[in-house]
Amino acid sequence: MNRRYKRLRVEKRNRLLELAYIDPITGLGNYNAYLEKTKEKLEIDGKKTVIILDIDKFKSFNKKYGHMKGNELLKRVGEEIKHAIRKTDIVCRLANDVFGIFLVGEVDVEGITKRLNRKISRIHIGDIWYNLRISMGVYICDKNEKDVQSIIDKAIMAHDSIKGKYHVPYGVFTEEFEQKIIRESEIENMMEDAIENKEFEIYYQPQISTKTEKIEGAEALVRWKKNENMISPGEFIPIFEKNYFIIKLDEYVYEMVCENIQEMKKEFKEIPKISVNISKESLLDNKFLEKYEKIMRKYDIIPEEIELEITERSAVSNDIDIQKILNKIKQKGFSIAIDDFGTGYSSLNMLEMMPIDTLKIDKSFIDRVDIKEEKINFIEIIMFITKKLNLRTVAEGVENIEQVNYLKKWNCDLIQGYVYQKPLKFEEFKKYIKEI
Ligand code: C2E
Ligand code: CA
Ligand code: CA
Repeated sequence: MNRRYKRLRVEKRNRLLELAYIDPITGLGNYNAYLEKTKEKLEIDGKKTVIILDIDKFKSFNKKYGHMKGNELLKRVGEEIKHAIRKTDIVCRLANDVFGIFLVGEVDVEGITKRLNRKISRIHIGDIWYNLRISMGVYICDKNEKDVQSIIDKAIMAHDSIKGKYHVPYGVFTEEFEQKIIRESEIENMMEDAIENKEFEIYYQPQISTKTEKIEGAEALVRWKKNENMISPGEFIPIFEKNYFIIKLDEYVYEMVCENIQEMKKEFKEIPKISVNISKESLLDNKFLEKYEKIMRKYDIIPEEIELEITERSAVSNDIDIQKILNKIKQKGFSIAIDDFGTGYSSLNMLEMMPIDTLKIDKSFIDRVDIKEEKINFIEIIMFITKKLNLRTVAEGVENIEQVNYLKKWNCDLIQGYVYQKPLKFEEFKKYIKEI
């Protein structure tokens, strides 16, 4: 009796342990098991590698084929991973469609990721074959690394780094990458206070007419001065676009510009049209137009005094809302410039349909101007099209007189670049307008 009771107790305990550590769908270990097992392996000497493997669009698979098939698929993926790794390695299912792999000893990362990809990207359940896409994050552990959660986090970060890059099956966590993440979080920690502390300042870069040689426009460019250091917009704008702080910053820049225009109108008879950069995130904010109109009224600005710059990439995105908002902006009387033209993928058809006034030719095309004109240049083709569509053209990043002459010859309207002026502080910009 006693022995039987003991046996039952052991069975019950094992059963509970199983529930706590086994994933019932795949029969593999679960998240808890992964933590325990990797912790043990981290004690062993030698090289260790973590791979986080994620099935892309698993939700769609579930929707299309049902949950039962979805579960079967997870089981099959687990089996294939097991076949691809060594017996001493670990694989567990960490969450829905995410598997954690832990490899002990020397690993050829390129080889193992390829093998996993090959085995899983075409997989069968019974005798039906399915095509899948997987993505992976890889972290090669530091020698003395003992913190399991931190190594998982690093592999997840490596996985996040390839989000949206459909042709890249895996990302590896590197030293450089770690520095980038640290810098990003530094910037994120400083950004909220930066507006309050007035650390952002607006500079203006003149745009000069090729016909009159006079200033006809200017682009407002934001600068961030933190203690005596300048942080480049090339660094912080992409971060703000990712975390949506750009909505706040764009609005702030726009308000400062309106304030400056109001001041200039009191001093000058005529002022150049000022263009302001607007990110896609701002455009998609549902209060965008309402907020921008309100600010405009506050400073007695009319929309004709301002141009909104939207990158070609955001303008041609398939997002139906973007097209709608562009039309609304136009109806309100603002002009619209397409920024970085030539780096996105707009078609002629789109150019004709979009409610735009100005095309800004990206610096990379200006850099490639073939002065000797041995080859036909992209710019000549653009000029031909823009004249037909009645668009104003601005050449960006023009640095020398040869480029200016070339652009004049092809009737580009405005030139913006160091050849005339770098972006100027507001006070210097006003002086510049007075003098020219
Ligand atoms: P962008 O809109 O293409 O701005 C032009 C960039 O080229 C500016 O860099 C400008 O200083 C630089 N540039 C102008 N002329 C020359 C030249 O002759 N040679 C060279 N090498 N560069 C020239 P900046 O100010 O560093 O801005 C970088 C990017 O940051 C901008 O590219 C824009 O995408 C973004 N940005 C700047 N201010 C704002 C803003 O207020 N809101 C948003 N959403 N983005 C902004
Ligand atoms: Ca711009
Ligand atoms: Ca540009």
